[in-house]
Amino acid sequence: MRVEGKLDLEDHDPGESFGWDKEQAKRQLADDVGALAELQTLLFAEGRRSVLVVLQAMDAGGKDGVLREVFVGLNPAGVTVTSFGAPTEDELAHDFLWRIHQHTPADGRIGVFNRSHYEDVLVVRVKQLAPATVWRKRYAHIRHFEQALVDEGTTIVKLFLNISSEEQRDRLQDRIDSPDERWKFRLGDLDDRQLWPAYMEAFGDALTKTSTPSAPWYVVPGDRKWVRNLAVARILRHTLARLDPQPPPADDGIEGLIVV
Ligand code: AMP
Ligand code: MG
Repeated sequence: MRVEGKLDLEDHDPGESFGWDKEQAKRQLADDVGALAELQTLLFAEGRRSVLVVLQAMDAGGKDGVLREVFVGLNPAGVTVTSFGAPTEDELAHDFLWRIHQHTPADGRIGVFNRSHYEDVLVVRVKQLAPATVWRKRYAHIRHFEQALVDEGTTIVKLFLNISSEEQRDRLQDRIDSPDERWKFRLGDLDDRQLWPAYMEAFGDALTKTSTPSAPWYVVPGDRKWVRNLAVARILRHTLARLDPQPPPADDGIEGLIVV
């Protein structure tokens, strides 16, 4: 799933299930979420490094589902989720990273971006919200920005939840048909859907140009929610386990103390 070299999304099946068994996957997900919670506590106790998870997907691609179903077991005090919608007038009056940088995670924390600075080379490119001379330079700016975060102690994991156009149609239709979910649907979602091929090209380019050894992209198969959830949990667990966070040593003289 890790993107190395040129990415062609045609090579990635959104319906992939890696031969996993659905029932077993549920147990594995619970195990991974438990391990993630423990690792998060250690990261917090260590207090010297942070983790940034970037979530990108087409509409109905499962970003909110991942937040609900994978991050559910973590301590909310240690996790900050930031959603990036269309920029405000004030945000537009600044460089594209200005609004992003304020929300990068502090030491000991996990930050999750629900959409991100990548919108500035995705929707902005596809809908021509900025000229090509502007967005083309952003890939390099993004690489350098992320490298700076990495150099200062942030581990970055970027996840593209890859759904098929057919799956998106079904999910958008469900949103329209069910009163409980209708609030999630905006008419503009249909405009974006019309532009599907252009978005896939923009995603392919963005992931190719910005997947680096220190801030890799992963293409997560998104059509089956249980596969998506387990894949995300596995990637995060692996990433945190590799960090191997260590709580600081206790103060001298604590061992053996009796509390009366
Ligand atoms: P949602 O995530 O469904 O709440 O929708 C947020 C909307 O904000 C999406 O349509 C995004 O394309 C849009 N958006 C996010 N970032 C930007 C950006 N930098 N420029 C323009 N539109 C954006
Ligand atoms: Mg939406």
